[in-house]
Amino acid sequence: MAATKTQAFILKTQDYRDTSILGHFYTREYGKIRGIIKGVRDARSRYGSTLEPFSLNEILFYKRRRGGDLHQVTQVDLVTLFPGVREDLERLATASYFVELLNELVEVEDPSPALFDLLNDSILFLAGGASPKRSARIFEIKLLELLGLLPEIGACVICRAPKPDPVYFNIGIGGIVCAACRSARARESAFPVSKGTLQFLRHVLRSKPADLQNVKVSQEVGEGLEKILRRFVDYHLSHKLKSVIFLEKMGYN
Ligand SMILES: [Zn+2]
Repeated sequence: MAATKTQAFILKTQDYRDTSILGHFYTREYGKIRGIIKGVRDARSRYGSTLEPFSLNEILFYKRRRGGDLHQVTQVDLVTLFPGVREDLERLATASYFVELLNELVEVEDPSPALFDLLNDSILFLAGGASPKRSARIFEIKLLELLGLLPEIGACVICRAPKPDPVYFNIGIGGIVCAACRSARARESAFPVSKGTLQFLRHVLRSKPADLQNVKVSQEVGEGLEKILRRFVDYHLSHKLKSVIFLEKMGYN
């Protein structure tokens, strides 16, 4: 078995059997991988990392040859804990949300260097002082885009009328609807959305993550985006994320 060395974000860890830990990692080359770190609860000092969520590490793992997706991780060396993010509760909770959401929405071993870079950039935004809310919205938009889950925002989902005005958003149908279609079919769960909110969404989609660190958002657009994206993300999840419950409880979300 060849050993593989790679950079990996910790998405989640849980106890495994008596002394080991099962880690979910996000790597650039292999996507999400799951690995057993043996004996770590007895001898954390053997590893150069405390395995904190969203820390970046260099890991050495042995790929399981056949069957199953639990690999053996023999080395975990910390690259960075992103200390600037951990010093602030809202930033820490937001970065925890990034890794929890990514872990829920991606399949194992389906590599996407763009997703790895998005996670890295988004945590760096938080470390660099960008607004946690804005960073979360950009992360959600880019994540949904990369996973092919983005709602239709260019034309009415039902009649295909381009850029309808007024415009409503329907979570279940997965995009915007015009006034006529809303009255006819989609009334129950459609809510109004501003043109500014849709313009911002389109702007984020056209831009590279690195160019969005200092993008400005009005309060109205920020609230509109949060309403669409939070509901749309929840729609794709089977349960409410712990980090979201925490952000709401603290009044951050
Ligand atoms: Zn329509």
